[in-house]
Amino acid sequence: MHLRLTEEQKMVQETIRKFVEKELIPLENDVLRNEREGRPSLPPGKLEELQQKAKEAGFWGINTPAEYGGADLGQMMMALVTMEISKTFVPFKFGGSADNILYYANEEQKKKYLIPTINGEKKSCFAMTEPSAGSDTRNIKMTAVKDGNEWVLNGEKTFITGGNEADFVMVIAITDKEKHKATGREGVTCFIVDRDMGWKSEYIHTMGEWGPAGLVFDNVRVPEENILGEVHGGYKLGLEWIGFARWIIGARAVGAGERLLQMAIDYSKERETFGKPISERQAIQWQIADSAVEIEAARWLTLNAAFTLDIGEDNRHLASIAKLYGSNIANRVVDRVLQIHGGMGYTRELPIERWYRETRLWRIYDGTDEMQRLIISRNLLKGHVKLGQFI
Ligand SMILES: Cc1cc2nc3c(=O)[nH]c(=O)nc-3n(C[C@H](O)[C@H](O)[C@H](O)COP(=O)(O)OP(=O)(O)OC[C@H]3O[C@@H](n4cnc5c(N)ncnc54)[C@H](O)[C@@H]3O)c2cc1C
Repeated sequence: MHLRLTEEQKMVQETIRKFVEKELIPLENDVLRNEREGRPSLPPGKLEELQQKAKEAGFWGINTPAEYGGADLGQMMMALVTMEISKTFVPFKFGGSADNILYYANEEQKKKYLIPTINGEKKSCFAMTEPSAGSDTRNIKMTAVKDGNEWVLNGEKTFITGGNEADFVMVIAITDKEKHKATGREGVTCFIVDRDMGWKSEYIHTMGEWGPAGLVFDNVRVPEENILGEVHGGYKLGLEWIGFARWIIGARAVGAGERLLQMAIDYSKERETFGKPISERQAIQWQIADSAVEIEAARWLTLNAAFTLDIGEDNRHLASIAKLYGSNIANRVVDRVLQIHGGMGYTRELPIERWYRETRLWRIYDGTDEMQRLIISRNLLKGHVKLGQFI
């Protein structure tokens, strides 16, 4: 076992770190101003311009297979790169990628949806959650009824990331009521549905700086060839979509946590009270120490989840641990950093309150804290995993 990055990993980390420092961090003040004045975080075209610059530095399709023009760097690199780009709140994501489940598309679907998504010509979203079905996905109500060569979709989805902007949605609907009623998992299918087939979206305001969408399907007719994967195979695809994003939240927590903690370290050395910098007070030192310990722990949990996937093993248990721990420490770190900044931390002069609002979401989506605990304990209680197994 060797617990250090390889030369290649260090080089990638260094390159992306420079990109973040040179291209993203200088935009932070503009992003804050735009958001506070009710404009989009980045002006139109800016994300694409940044993605192009990242491409020139070799970052395009980090996880996309080489046959689709991607860098295919693997999950470990994905974790390292995500930790770096999460050191800023500038809403950047790399170009050249598509949702993991879109690779289940057949050849025709790949031409129509996968490749244009990778090329940035089409935007997608994934919709499982409904007003009555969040953690309890068995409770979904949306139906798809076969009519000739088409399926007719009716129902509502909610909290769909990217749903306001998407050109098409990968949506989960019940296609066999009896099977679904009996099992809660079977009898659902994933459909690729273009916006111009008739679904409508509505912006949902949240405490964060971007809003997901509510989607309404009212007799939306979808051709048979738009089924993604197998008929009645939608549940597996849904779990795979949710599972992919899960452990990455651990990487985001590490990046944001490091940047925030550095802000607190710097500020505590400058801010004087009662004749001394606050960094000389044990109450402040302990908050710094506790945050550093938690960030280090989150880093190793996340890297282990990524590594496990890279060696082809099932990482779901580790993904839940990394997600649960990472999202919680991010909330604790941002809270301590705000506290160390005193009244200034609470103002909109500094980005801490923005991070405070954003990190709160991480404990909710891609499976809440409670769902992660349920998965972790179930795996142990049922003997699916053993303590100390993943080393
Ligand atoms: C900004 C945002 C973006 C999102 N993006 C997407 C997306 O792109 N696609 C998508 O399909 N969904 C998306 N979601 C939905 C998200 O996955 C759900 O909100 C989440 O799974 C929780 O479901 P819920 O909100 O219905 O809460 P509920 O399931 O109603 O839970 C309410 C509370 O009860 C707890 N709870 C529930 N069951 C149990 C139990 N058995 N034991 C103990 N506690 C329990 C929960 O942990 C939670 O604290 C998004 C949500 C948000 C807020």
